[in-house]
Amino acid sequence: DIVSDYSYTDAAVIHKMIRKRPVFSHKGTFGKVLLIAGSKGMMGAATLAAKSILRTGAGLVCVHIPGSGVDIVQTLIPEAILSIDPNKEVVTVLPDIDGYSAIGIGVGLGEHPYTADVLEELLVSSVDPLVIDASALNILASNPHWITHIPPNSILTPHPRELERLAGMKFQNSWERLHKAIEMAKKMQVIIVLKGAYTAVVMPTGVVHFNSTGNSGLATAGSGDVLTGIITSFLAQGYSPADAARLGVFAHGYAGDAAAEVKSKAGMIASDITEYLPMFFLDFE
Ligand code: AMP
Ligand code: MG
Repeated sequence: DIVSDYSYTDAAVIHKMIRKRPVFSHKGTFGKVLLIAGSKGMMGAATLAAKSILRTGAGLVCVHIPGSGVDIVQTLIPEAILSIDPNKEVVTVLPDIDGYSAIGIGVGLGEHPYTADVLEELLVSSVDPLVIDASALNILASNPHWITHIPPNSILTPHPRELERLAGMKFQNSWERLHKAIEMAKKMQVIIVLKGAYTAVVMPTGVVHFNSTGNSGLATAGSGDVLTGIITSFLAQGYSPADAARLGVFAHGYAGDAAAEVKSKAGMIASDITEYLPMFFLDFE
């Protein structure tokens, strides 16, 4: 009775959900993403997420990063546009957020107080749903009174430890964890993507969608950053937050399964997930 209403996101569901890429289109058709990410020593997270945004089909990505990340990101992703923070090591200012079709925040950011201020400003000034991950979730956990400012239907993507911090408690088992995620999603009116094997996408209604793709090769550094990029990209392309979250989790797992077939579970790394995303679109688009 803990999970009162649940379903599995399988291939049939995804076939119905995914839209064909229209012929008469231009890059504006596919959305413009703002990603606020990275800090000195963690620019890889920004890079992985930004590349995944593009590989999922968004028309354009602008990455807001600290100054020291410029050469790294420009070199690794020539397709990305940069918004450069005046600070070299951490993000300290919120860029202009107008004109984007989706905004993602958190990967590799760290928790500097100035970075926390940027998150607060973003939460207060946004009306559309955001994608919130990693450091941004930990900053929220330290500032629980900001939670009321999260735009409704935002997508939060905690791994179990991040959910524990956000909930302010330790879980004895996975049922307790899922129960808490359902309670929080309802109370906060957000979508919680509770990551792990068979990731649970928990809706603001309390409905839970279990994912059916993926393997233990996804348990590797940077894997979650790739997922954040994928979900933000689907959101920017006009999918509802609920569909963007389910599509994103499924595609991430599917790409991970394709990568494992060639690279093995142990040998695959997070960039491989990004590189194998086209396999998802070849099979489902
Ligand atoms: P993060 O901890 O933020 O890097 O996210 C890890 C990603 O890998 C999430 O999308 C998890 O669902 C996925 N993942 C981790 N461990 C497993 C596993 N054993 N089986 C399938 N997926 C996993
Ligand atoms: Mg993560």
